[in-house]
Amino acid sequence: MILTTLLKGLFLKIDLHSHTRFSDGKLSVNELLIRAEQMQVDVLAITDHDCVDAIEPALEILKGNQQKLILISGTEISTKWHGFEIHILGLEVNHRCDKFLQRLSTQLQKRQVRAEKICEKLTNIGIANVLPEAQKRASGNCISRAHIAQVLVERGVCSHLQQAFTHFLGKNKKAYVAPEWISVEESIEWIHDAGGKAVIAHPFHYDMTTKWLRRLAQEFAASGGDGMEVQHPNLAKAKHDLMVQIAIEVGLDGSAGSDFHAPSKWTELGRRLTIPDPLTPIWHRFSTKIAS
Ligand code: AMP
Ligand code: MN
Ligand code: MN
Ligand code: MN
Repeated sequence: MILTTLLKGLFLKIDLHSHTRFSDGKLSVNELLIRAEQMQVDVLAITDHDCVDAIEPALEILKGNQQKLILISGTEISTKWHGFEIHILGLEVNHRCDKFLQRLSTQLQKRQVRAEKICEKLTNIGIANVLPEAQKRASGNCISRAHIAQVLVERGVCSHLQQAFTHFLGKNKKAYVAPEWISVEESIEWIHDAGGKAVIAHPFHYDMTTKWLRRLAQEFAASGGDGMEVQHPNLAKAKHDLMVQIAIEVGLDGSAGSDFHAPSKWTELGRRLTIPDPLTPIWHRFSTKIAS
């Protein structure tokens, strides 16, 4: 019995970053949970952008079907730091905390205003009426540039999502609108006030030199941040090693997540997400006991 528990602990599949249709994910909460089961994920954090709306329905579904999955309530907060858009994950946040929900709603309002401004810019360059279609895709939930990108691809303006960012939506591109997100420090405060752990999401995805990355990690740790993602299913080993090195240098714990938005060949729930020694996995700090 003890041996079985130990072995299971060694091979737990832990994925601390995923999205549903409550933000820009393609799957419903139920579909995401089914996929997690298919992929034999043992621990899953749902981390929709600037909201926690998927958590309560996910808990309900899990209660109903007796799936063994351990759900970690989470969110991914958009912040601004020296002109960069930095995403901070809140893991094990209290998704019923009124103050937290109120704070997140201010982010959602900013998202709505930004979407309107982006679509105005698109109209000015001859691409009209994108907003209603993007809003339809967001179905009243958190609206993201990803929804706008999907409309541009569907209309044939762009051949794929990435192109929508490189031509129109990315920083300083034709329809870019600088966001007014909260600071990294504020996001840490929000997350801690809601009882969660704050983690820098996908540091390897920011268009940033190693010097800036170190500075981000240092400031984040100095402001009380808890961890940093060091692994992703598709991350090159050299980048992974660098993330591990920086996390150790500044004293952050390690986190790992697929940032799953939809089934694709690039990423998959629970794939290739180990945290190497001597980094402490962030889930060792969770109040939920995870045997790994
Ligand atoms: P937003 O949260 O509104 O800033 O939109 C960013 C979202 O678009 C990210 O969470 C990704 O899901 C998606 N995305 C896809 N490609 C890119 C890209 N090249 N740059 C930024 N976001 C991207
Ligand atoms: Mn996204
Ligand atoms: Mn992100
Ligand atoms: Mn994400």
